[in-house]
Amino acid sequence: MPEQYDAIVIGTGQAGSPLAVRLANAGRKTAIIERKLIGGTCVNVGCIPTKTLIASARAAHVARRGADFGVTIGGKIGVDMARVKARKDAVVGQSNQGVAGWIKRTANLTLIEGQARFVGPHRIRVNGTLLEAEQIFINVGGRATIPDMPGLAEVPYLTNTSMMEVDFLPEHLLIIGGSYIGLEFAQMYRRFGSRVTVIEMAPRLIAREDEEVSAAVQSILEGEGIAFRLNAQCLSIARQGDGVAVHVSCEREPRDIVGSHVLLAVGRVPNTDDLGLDQAGIRTDARGYITVDDELRTNVPGVWAVGDVNGRGAFTHTSYNDYEIVAANLLDNDCRRVSDRILAYALFVDPPLGRVGMTEHEVRASGRKALFGKIMMTRVGRARERSETQGFMQVLVDAETKRILGAAMLGTEGDEAIHCILEVMAAGAPYTAMQRTMHIHPTVSELIPTLLGDLKPLS
Ligand SMILES: Cc1cc2nc3c(=O)[nH]c(=O)nc-3n(C[C@H](O)[C@H](O)[C@H](O)COP(=O)(O)OP(=O)(O)OC[C@H]3O[C@@H](n4cnc5c(N)ncnc54)[C@H](O)[C@@H]3O)c2cc1C
Repeated sequence: MPEQYDAIVIGTGQAGSPLAVRLANAGRKTAIIERKLIGGTCVNVGCIPTKTLIASARAAHVARRGADFGVTIGGKIGVDMARVKARKDAVVGQSNQGVAGWIKRTANLTLIEGQARFVGPHRIRVNGTLLEAEQIFINVGGRATIPDMPGLAEVPYLTNTSMMEVDFLPEHLLIIGGSYIGLEFAQMYRRFGSRVTVIEMAPRLIAREDEEVSAAVQSILEGEGIAFRLNAQCLSIARQGDGVAVHVSCEREPRDIVGSHVLLAVGRVPNTDDLGLDQAGIRTDARGYITVDDELRTNVPGVWAVGDVNGRGAFTHTSYNDYEIVAANLLDNDCRRVSDRILAYALFVDPPLGRVGMTEHEVRASGRKALFGKIMMTRVGRARERSETQGFMQVLVDAETKRILGAAMLGTEGDEAIHCILEVMAAGAPYTAMQRTMHIHPTVSELIPTLLGDLKPLS
């Protein structure tokens, strides 16, 4: 006989853990199953470790720029990679143990460590035991895509997961993939002291962004000595001495790009291939993401999919928001939907890119009448005071409703200042409300009213 629960959560990611605790606290007998690291991607091999490493890389960068600020440092700036990793491990350990302790302390909640697999719509097998529940929540996340690239099986390669074990300085890191994850690692390792080359198949970096944003990010990173090979086609890889050589052209090129190590950062795939979804009749799309409705229900009644696995978001905050939506609908009688949320995310290069809503390209494609404003970071007092004047802020407004449609803030504190725009969008207020708000001096946000005061029709 299967063990009976009221609810089973598969995966301890950013939606699964809070949801399991919430259900258990609501008096439901709940099981949460984890096959690997408690806390999932963000805590162990994603956001938290990368941002901790980025902080070390920034410290090295600022130290090297000491003279710009009148600070003298005797001798060369060195980076001790073993200590960088140890610091990262300590921060990750704290978060991982925090989540584990939270789950274990919760009454009504059982943590089961093992691989879960559906054997029926409401039945799961884990470690040879059958579990059954009326409500099942899938939060299995994703993993790095391993592309079908000739030669890859014969060379050692790194992913975002194995990068977490690196405690040495690669002499020349080749990064295949010029999108969010690849660029964060690129700047981080360049600042640690590696040579870095980013190899991207598309004609530009972060192709989801407006061209101007892609170009500005590339120029900032080139300014730090990162090399780019765009339009790389017919990729193949081979061992070369102690390192690797990546072939990047369909035509014969005189030489391949040779490096000491290679990192694959070409996207993510959902962890649905070994979940037994066919046994439960749960539908996925062509890429393996579980299909859900606006309240994150799958096609099987009583089964939800939350987090990256539903393809409706790829961030910690979208996963956590999924938890809030499901909990509100199930436990609070508060109807919340995925379509209520406004797209928001950041690229954590330095200076960061904060993004909300539509891009300029999307606004143009929508055909609506819009206003556009742009201001360079050189005009921002806070940026000048810090000698960090790279980048710009731009905003798009609906000409008729005066509502903000989207914004990009590439510049110092851009990942924080973007929230001013996000809150006004969420409040459904016109952009003019921000112009009448007194902002604190000297901050990045204080220039937003100036930006909004000089809008022009989007031609
Ligand atoms: C390098 C990197 C940097 C990132 N940086 C950011 C950032 O700065 N900001 C941001 O918002 N997002 C970032 N992300 C994305 C973010 O990590 C994810 O969006 C976030 O973790 C949400 O994931 P999730 O809740 O869907 O599941 P996950 O966190 O992926 O957790 C899923 C869990 O399910 C477990 N599991 C899978 N299959 C099974 C099974 N069959 N049985 C039992 N357990 C199973 C897995 O082991 C895992 O622990 C980053 C990602 C990467 C890779």
